[in-house]
Amino acid sequence: MEKPKILVIDDEKAICDACAQILDGENYDVETTQNGESGLQKIGSFRPYVVFVDLKMPGLSGMEVLTRIREEDPKIVPVVITGFATVESAVQSMKVGAYDFLTKPFTPDQLRVVTKRALDWRKASLDAERLRNEKEKLRQNFISMVSHELRTPLVSVMQYLEVISGGFVGGISQEGTRIVERMKTRLDELLRLIDRWLKLARLEEVSFKDEYEDIEVSSIVREAVDTLEDMAAGKGVHVVFEPDLEECMTRADRELIREVFINLISNAVKYNREHGDVKIALRECEDYWIADVSDTGVGISEENIKRVGEEFYRVKSEGTVAGTGIGLAIVKKILDMHDGRLEVVSRLNEGSTFSVYLPKLNYSKRSKKNG
Ligand code: ADP
Repeated sequence: MEKPKILVIDDEKAICDACAQILDGENYDVETTQNGESGLQKIGSFRPYVVFVDLKMPGLSGMEVLTRIREEDPKIVPVVITGFATVESAVQSMKVGAYDFLTKPFTPDQLRVVTKRALDWRKASLDAERLRNEKEKLRQNFISMVSHELRTPLVSVMQYLEVISGGFVGGISQEGTRIVERMKTRLDELLRLIDRWLKLARLEEVSFKDEYEDIEVSSIVREAVDTLEDMAAGKGVHVVFEPDLEECMTRADRELIREVFINLISNAVKYNREHGDVKIALRECEDYWIADVSDTGVGISEENIKRVGEEFYRVKSEGTVAGTGIGLAIVKKILDMHDGRLEVVSRLNEGSTFSVYLPKLNYSKRSKKNG
């Protein structure tokens, strides 16, 4: 295995020689050089793990060298050698990326300890990066597995069922038709679950920020309310939205914010009692617009409220309506992407209020109430 490589850049030859002697004895591969220019050249050819840089050198300064090391290879761990341990010089060197510093004169033990710490730090950072990459690769594989190995065959099963129920392969009995219809319903639920999960997973990988535009919150709430009109009417639920605020501007992806309100309002209808009410109100608090979606439904107990919004989490209760437990996870992710958040207040058997926080674009609000 390759020995850890250490480069020492110091204009004092005695320091270079001492460092080389001490670190050689520790089974490190050590190179030294006495000015910044040759130090930077060595970095390119030697590829050190840790570089000791003297802050005060003629020619290229230590600070300059530190900045260039960071640009060249951020995996290199730079350590500053300074003749004067002032807080100011230490802070300054940390700002340009130094991991640690060593004050002259230093003992062999101090040099060994600082070197070991810098090497441990490098190993931990590389390990963390490797794990992050592996996790990302697994996630990508899983997304592609779900969409190709799972979704695609299910879609083709659905097409075969359509062929059967459409009578294209001969007549089937009444009982047969009933079973095929049930299969279609269950399959449709499964496909919807998969599609929603894929959407959630993809929210994490795509940056929507380029598509953000200045949008007005109440107009989006209105669109969501209109979209769900028939669903609410089907359950006899009365949805009221009378905004007190105008021009609630925020910067966001229009489609995604509409998705947030469609999810919350449809839940408010779905988990409501027959002929219950849903009320949506807009208010503001410091830097946020807040939309409260309140219902008179089944509510959520205190112990369950903490888990609501976790992927696939559904509150178990009698007569639970069909669902996937992904809607609120999507809502939370979308709000997170917009530097907003979701808050929930609920009382079992009385109802819930889901509050959407979206950052204000600016402070030019106007309130109808206040004129
Ligand atoms: P789904 O509705 O598909 O199950 P969601 O992620 O939208 O998924 O909601 C997760 C769970 O949170 C639901 O199963 C339900 O138990 C609870 N929940 C969500 N909205 C409400 C609400 N307005 N009132 C009561 N419970 C709710």
